[in-house]
Amino acid sequence: MGPGGHVVPWGLMTKERRWFEQSPPEPKAGPRATDVDRVKALWNQCPGCREVLNKDDLDQHMNCCPHCGYHLRIDNLERMLSLVDEGSFERHDEHLSPTDPLSFVDSKKYVDRISASQRKTGENDAYISGSATIDGLAVQIGTFNFGFMGGSMGSVVGELITRQFERATERGEPAIVISASGGARMQEGLLSLMQMAKTCAALARLRDEAKQPYISVLTHPTTGGVAASFAMLGDMILAEPNALIGFAGPRVIEQTIGQALPEGFQTSEYLLDHGMVDRIVPRKDMRGTLSRCLRLLLDPV
Ligand SMILES: [Zn+2]
Repeated sequence: MGPGGHVVPWGLMTKERRWFEQSPPEPKAGPRATDVDRVKALWNQCPGCREVLNKDDLDQHMNCCPHCGYHLRIDNLERMLSLVDEGSFERHDEHLSPTDPLSFVDSKKYVDRISASQRKTGENDAYISGSATIDGLAVQIGTFNFGFMGGSMGSVVGELITRQFERATERGEPAIVISASGGARMQEGLLSLMQMAKTCAALARLRDEAKQPYISVLTHPTTGGVAASFAMLGDMILAEPNALIGFAGPRVIEQTIGQALPEGFQTSEYLLDHGMVDRIVPRKDMRGTLSRCLRLLLDPV
C-alpha cells in the first residue's frame, strides 16, 4: 500500500520501500582472524596468578609461569625432548592408528572425533613412545598428549604402552611413563578398560623377568583408568606441582558421598602427604631428578 492507503503499482515502488529486495548491509570490518590468532599465540594469561605471560617467557620456563610457578600444559613431544639427551630419541610404533570397533556414536561419531584430534595434533593417537637416553642411561620412555581426546587410553594407547614395557623387558632397560589423561576412552567401551589389565601385566613382566625399574611421572591431570592402573604402579612415583590426580573427579565424589572434600584433595601435594606420591618435582628439575632416580634404582647402594 502507498501513502494514504492507495495501492502503488509494483514498478513504481521506490528502492527504499523494496528493502526486502536489497542485500544485507556489509558487516563492519573487524580485526582479521589472523591478527587475533597471532595475538593469542603470543600472549597467555596465567590461570594461577592471572599475570599476562608472553610466549618467549613461557618458552624459556618450559611453559611454567615465571611469577607464581603455575605449570601450564606443555606439548608432549616438547616435554619428551626436554627430558632426554639431545638427538637420542628414536620413536617406535608411530604408525598405529585407532579404529572404531563399536561404531560408537555419542553427540558425535567416534570416527569424527578421532579425525578431528588427528588434524589438530598431527598425531595418530594420544601417546608417543620410543627409546632414548637420559644422562647416557638407555630408557624406554613415553608421554601422553592430553590435547588428543583428553589423553584418553583406548586400544592404541594401551598397545603402545604395552609394547614400551615389552621392549624394556627384552632390552633390559628401565621404563618411564609421563601421564596426562582423563582415563579410559569410553568410545571403545570394554576394549579400553582391558588396556588397564594388559599394560599392568606387561609391567609385571618387566619387573619379574627383566628386574628393571619403572618410574611413573604424574602431570595435570592423571585420572580414571590411567590413574587406576600403571600410573600408580611406579617403583618411584613423581608428580608435577598442583596436578589433579585421582580416579573420579572431586565433584563426582562429593555427589556420591554427600560430604565436602578436604582442602587440596586429589592434588599432588595431598597425595604426597598421604604417601601415594614419592616426590613433587617442578618441570625444570624433572630431567635431573629422573637421572638421579634411575641411577638409584639401577644401582642401589
Ligand atoms: Zn602465575
